[in-house]
Amino acid sequence: MKKLELHWKILIGMILGLLFGFLMLQFDWGKSFVSDWIKPFGSIFVKLLKLIAIPLILASLIKGISDLKDISKFKNIGIRTIIIYVLTTVVAISIGLMLVNALQPGDGVSDETIAKLTDTYSSTSGVQAKIAEATKQVESGPLQFLEDMVPDNALSAMSNNKLMLQVIFFSIFLGISMLLIGEKRAEPLKNFFDSLNDVVLKMVDLIMLSAPYAVFALLASVVVSSDDPDILVALAQYSGVVVLGLLLMISFYVLLVTTITKKNPFWFLKEISPAQLLAFSTSSSAATLPVTMERVTEHIGVEEEVSSFVLPVGATINMDGTSLYQAVAAVFIFQALGLDLTFGDQITIVLTALLASIGSAAVPGAGMVMLVIVLESVGLPPELLPIGLALIFAVDRPLDMCRTVINVTGDATVSMLVAKSVGKLGEPKIKEWDDHYEEVK
Ligand code: ASP
Repeated sequence: MKKLELHWKILIGMILGLLFGFLMLQFDWGKSFVSDWIKPFGSIFVKLLKLIAIPLILASLIKGISDLKDISKFKNIGIRTIIIYVLTTVVAISIGLMLVNALQPGDGVSDETIAKLTDTYSSTSGVQAKIAEATKQVESGPLQFLEDMVPDNALSAMSNNKLMLQVIFFSIFLGISMLLIGEKRAEPLKNFFDSLNDVVLKMVDLIMLSAPYAVFALLASVVVSSDDPDILVALAQYSGVVVLGLLLMISFYVLLVTTITKKNPFWFLKEISPAQLLAFSTSSSAATLPVTMERVTEHIGVEEEVSSFVLPVGATINMDGTSLYQAVAAVFIFQALGLDLTFGDQITIVLTALLASIGSAAVPGAGMVMLVIVLESVGLPPELLPIGLALIFAVDRPLDMCRTVINVTGDATVSMLVAKSVGKLGEPKIKEWDDHYEEVK
């Protein structure tokens, strides 16, 4: 019998997880049962993915750069990547702004709903923590991000997943220096990182064997910790606009893949789907990164020289879904509170949402922290901030799941575009998920 493909297995795990979560909500003990006995398996899976993210970035980026044999090629890839990332993000924000202005979801929110949401959420620790975190970010100077990118200690950079850009910086620096000392002298180090790269990719395969079960656990725990369904319905119009925007963004990627890389878009979506499903289940592009790398390199055929740079950088700075959501959420909050936004304000949203999505960490809920900065930039008074966030807080998690899918799909699309433009989009090198697994058993 033909084995069920991975994405089907993951999808079945997700659906069963959702159903199980709803079932457990029917019992008094259901919620604590899920958080005590089911959730840990999802958390272990996410931890395993995060565990290999730093070694993978290190090994694949150093291997990728030292394979290039020529620094000018790296410069070429780097510049194209950044330009395309900025362009796709601007498209995402513009789609968000167009939809939210045309459909006006904020006008449909009644005063009672605003009062209810404000009562329930504005003083909760969740909302207050986001505001506090955002305030910390605002207090830093304009070039702080550049300073933050450069580590003063390679080992401490590698010991903190939040410092992924520092690890990227160190790996590029090391890779370029290896190119400069010449192939022969760099060979021992190159062999070491080549081998480390293969081993870490094998670890991805092994971790993915448990993906269908892990997503079951992740989704069951999201369901039992979600909010009152009535509130979710009250915010349906706003959520609908965000989701519609995200779907348009997928269509935009499909258009780019079809016209520029001349690949079949359905094939692209099928091959990338395990990464998308994991992005949805974990709400974290950083945790999904190892799987995105594996899919893009082995299943789509982007050569490692390109994917090893474009994807980790994308996971940290390119968040099209997040920026689209920030644009919609900011305007929605103004509409719901009956405040006006001028055309100039909307342009400010484009610029700040672009910077905010670059600055957002690739972890669950990060987009909302940076939304605070977008709201402040267009003059939302500080006393209205908790109310503004309270309005969208209840649906943040489901929307986070959806926008993370777009963030990951955007990174994969851009890696194909960059690869195509530098002649590095080859044929897939598919290895079975469990190849060699039988031998070592
Ligand atoms: N969860 C998103 C990501 O990891 C970031 C966000 O929008 O909150 O890509």
